[in-house]
This record gives sequence, structure tokens and C-alpha cells, in this order.
Amino acid sequence: MSVKFDPERALVGIRREFGEHGGVCPSIERSSTFTVLEPGIMPEIFEGLRGPENGGCFLYSRHFNPTVDVLARSLAAMEGTEYAVCTASGISAIACSILQLCKNGDHVVSSNTVYGGSHALFAETFPEFGIDVTFVDPVDTAAFEKAITPKTKALYVEVVGNPTLKVADIPALAKIAHDRGIVLVVDNTFTPMVISPAKLGADIVVYSLTKFVNGASDMIAGAICASKDFVLQLMDLHKGRVMLLGPTMDSRTAFDLQQRMPHLGLRMREHGTRAMAIAKRLEELGASVVYPGLPSNPQHELFKSMANEGYGYGGMLALDCKTAEMADKTMAILQNEENFGFIAVSLGYFDTLISCSGSSTSSEIPAEDQAIMGLSPGLLRISIGYTGLLEDRIAQIERAVRKAGLV
Ligand code: PLP
Repeated sequence: MSVKFDPERALVGIRREFGEHGGVCPSIERSSTFTVLEPGIMPEIFEGLRGPENGGCFLYSRHFNPTVDVLARSLAAMEGTEYAVCTASGISAIACSILQLCKNGDHVVSSNTVYGGSHALFAETFPEFGIDVTFVDPVDTAAFEKAITPKTKALYVEVVGNPTLKVADIPALAKIAHDRGIVLVVDNTFTPMVISPAKLGADIVVYSLTKFVNGASDMIAGAICASKDFVLQLMDLHKGRVMLLGPTMDSRTAFDLQQRMPHLGLRMREHGTRAMAIAKRLEELGASVVYPGLPSNPQHELFKSMANEGYGYGGMLALDCKTAEMADKTMAILQNEENFGFIAVSLGYFDTLISCSGSSTSSEIPAEDQAIMGLSPGLLRISIGYTGLLEDRIAQIERAVRKAGLV
């Protein structure tokens, strides 16, 4: 499938939101509650007849808030969906999406290489509420089809799986889902702007905005980009999962994130340029590097076929040090001797963040399941930043892998 979507163009194409007094920045609407001009309007809001999406009547900020809605509309434009809703975290965006789609007795087929928190939610928490999840290899598209039962309501994948960086075939999975009348939910946290899953057939795109969209590692936030109908279901005053479970985004958080949207494209390109150069050098040195931008990567062509032109291959790469001991040794050299980055979980920061996934963000996943998903105990997940000079960064990681004895 060839993609002719440019998320930056889509983003600047929407109505510019000026501040209340003509400020070039949008205003922050901090009210928790809102006045209505006529008492008769109130019941209409509760009946869902008057939301910001049809005429702009705000009620209460756990429902819709004008500043949060500005960000939601930016995210929807970037993603190419009708609408979006922002949440307090990425994990709440995932949980609310699945809980809106599934009730007790329903079933989800999920990629087995997803963020550890999502894995724990699917493997432990949802089954306690009667929602069962079958995990399959995201590279094995046919396995999703085989795992579907009459109870299945959704397929769930990360475009680029955390932390193995396995790439899911979004158009093929969308076809499987739609042929069965179910929905495809995609976590696009690793590749905002780089890949636009909704344009490839995904029905619901969830985000941890904590990562690349934020870019400064200074807040926790999430979003669900989807059809207007699904967003209004989530926000239904009497039944909506975001409305009733309450992971609301604060208006100040929304403002901060909105101010970072205009340079997300620039940042993603720079993350990608640097990750590519570093991955190439590691490959030349003979290190065991995983990066979908490398032509040798088995899923390079698939990634390329799904990517928006000009945004690169994303900022995440993995370096397999084989054992946890070697991973620890390499991380210590990278941080403490070479100043290449920080030993820290999370990703999408302007500086480089390095963690050993098996013993950190994926430690919720039992060792046998880590082996099944292809997660080596020595895998370092590296979120490549863009501070400093690229040539210095390449020299630092080169010295580090030599000192650690990886090459
Ligand atoms: N999705 C992915 C791919 C992640 O890596 C994470 C967190 O690391 C999340 C979702 C959860 O996001 P948050 O920490 O914002 O709740």
C-alpha cells in the first residue's frame, strides 16, 4: 500500500488556535466547570446533543475542556482520524480503548511484543474482569487470523513492538480485522508522523504522549485517535470509559503538549537521521543491532511500504548484548565513561535513553514469554536523542562497544 499522507501538512492545515486576546499561543482554559446561558441547555448537554463537536458547549473538564480539545484536534489531524481524546497517560488510553470495545466474556488478540505494562494489563488485569487475551507473534500475520474466535472484538499491536522493534503489517491486519467485523487498535507511540496507522486501515490509534510527542520527558500523557463516533462513546456522560474511569488530561498539560506539536516533525526526522547513522556504524562494526531503517533488517521493506515519505525510520534501536551482565557493562560504559546517554526507562527524550528491557520495562513479562517474543536478556533498548554532534555520538558508542567487548 503506498501512503500519500503528510502529517505535518495535515497538522498546519487545521484552524489556527489563537489566544483569547490574539496571542500567538492558545489560551489555557483552567475552569473545571462552565456556565450555560439558558437552563434548558444543560439537559441537552447530558443527552449528548451539545458537545464541543457540535456547537461548542462545554460542561465540565472531565468531559471536554477547550484547551485539551485543541490538542485533541491537532492529534486527530496529524493522525488522519476524525477526532481524538486526550488522556492522563498512555496506559489509560490503552485500557479505556479496550474496555470500551470489550465486556466480560470478550476476547482480544494481541501482539506478544508490546510494552510491559500493556502486556501485564492484557495478561493479568483484563482476565480478572473476564476479558481474555491471546498473544501472537506480530510478524506472523496469519497467527492473528487463527487466534480470532467468535468472542474476539479487537486485534492489538504496536506498529514497532516494544522492545524488540518487530514491525506489524498494519494493512494486512486491518484487512483481517475488517473481514471479521472487528477493529484494529494500534499503539503508535514509537513512530508519530513516521507512520500513520489510521491511513493504513487501523480503526483506533493509541498513544503514550509521554514519549516522542512530548519530547522533553517532563510529563505523562496519552491519547486515543479514532472516529468521532468512538470518541463520543468514550466520552459519553453516562457510559463512556474515559468519562467514567476518569483519566482526564489537565488543560496545562494539554497546552504544553500543543506547543510541541509544530516541531514534532523536525524532531522525528532528526531522531531518525541519527538512529540510522548510529545503526549503520554499529552494523559495520559487527554489533548485533536491530533497526528497521537498515536494509538488512528483515522488516525493512515492510516498514518502508507503510512509512510517510521523508520522516525516516524512527528514533528507536536495539543492541543485543546477549546477556544481562554484558548489557549492564555496556550501559555503564555508555553513560559513565562515554556520556552517550542516560540509563533510564522511557523514550522519545531529546537526549539518549538506554535501558535493558528484560530486567526493566518488560520485567512484568515472565522469562519464558520473553523468550517466546524474542526478547534477549541482554537487549538494550536505545532511544536515540539529538543533542551534541552526531560524529561525537558515533565515536562514543563505537568506543563503548569496543570497550565492552561486543565487537
Ligand atoms: N505504549 C508504549 C509503546 C510504551 O512504551 C509505554 C510506556 O513506556 C506506554 C504505552 C505507556 O505509556 P504511559 O507511561 O504514558 O502510560
